[in-house]
Amino acid sequence: MGMEKVILPKSLEGKTVLVAGAAGFVPSHVCELYVGLGAKVIGLDNFVTGTEANLTGLKSNSLFDFRECNIFESLPSFSGENIDYIFSLASPASPVDFSKIPMDIMRVNSEGTRFLLELAKEKKARFLEASTSEVYGDPEVHPQTEDYVGHVNPIGPRACYDEGKRFAEAMCTVYKNFHGVETRIVRIFNTYGPRMRPDDGRVIPNFINQAMNDQDISVYGDGSQTRSFCFVTDLVQAMHYVMHSPVDTPVNIGNPDEYTILEAAKFIIDVMGSNSKITHLPLPKDDPKKRRPDITKLQSFSDYVPQVGFREGLLETVEFFKSCV
Ligand code: UDP
Repeated sequence: MGMEKVILPKSLEGKTVLVAGAAGFVPSHVCELYVGLGAKVIGLDNFVTGTEANLTGLKSNSLFDFRECNIFESLPSFSGENIDYIFSLASPASPVDFSKIPMDIMRVNSEGTRFLLELAKEKKARFLEASTSEVYGDPEVHPQTEDYVGHVNPIGPRACYDEGKRFAEAMCTVYKNFHGVETRIVRIFNTYGPRMRPDDGRVIPNFINQAMNDQDISVYGDGSQTRSFCFVTDLVQAMHYVMHSPVDTPVNIGNPDEYTILEAAKFIIDVMGSNSKITHLPLPKDDPKKRRPDITKLQSFSDYVPQVGFREGLLETVEFFKSCV
């Protein structure tokens, strides 16, 4: 028997949404969606990876209220305020962050997430944890379904994030089972789009920057590893569906359109009409060989279909990077 499809609210006027990590790439788009629906949005960030620039549009909106803080130290006081929805989106997520700020990543996914879950318990808010495809590690199952428990190296270079998010999922589940908190968990697959940090080190920003400047495109290894790239507005729509669904177990969100990294490099050169050549650099340790979300579960309870194709999404991202220089 199929599940009933989620009906999204037409308006969230009178509701308050807390977004941890608001100045980050994906979260800034979440804030925009919710102020657009008429909700009051409180954004938190410590700017370790997020930027003021990502908040420019939001700050002129009277529904948006920003409070700078480091959520793994403490939260601001919300005494006397209602909170209806909490988005736990504060973790740095790029592999370049894993070697630079591993302690911040581990603390935000443990202490920070606990503070947010305590707040959800106190305010009776619905809580959504942004988990990741990284919980599957270097997967032996392809495409990845939510019931696959993963293949993660607990002491590898990606462990601060992979295990951080696995811990965060575990803690959400405990708060659900022992404290009755309404938790939702999304596992985000590779996402790209405007407001990604141009120097974030991930594959799409690197390739676009290189192609824009006719520099060599840095393919790690032979480029046969795969990723499936989702445009940010599609991803945020998927998160919105999960937040408003009754599904309290993990849900993969992303775009199942899968490319080898070499194909992606060639595609970007082509789309941008660049003169760049491809060069090969060493493959980082524990780099997952394959990644594609199975989104059957998401589609069983929502009308989610990715709307933005790779070419269109890349062109929008290129425009954004051009506006940054
Ligand atoms: N990658 C690459 N060249 C780059 C950056 C990344 O070939 O300049 C590869 C990387 O080895 C990985 C894939 O692209 O296989 C995606 O890497 P990214 O850092 O974007 O995120 P991940 O999916 O590994 O978390």
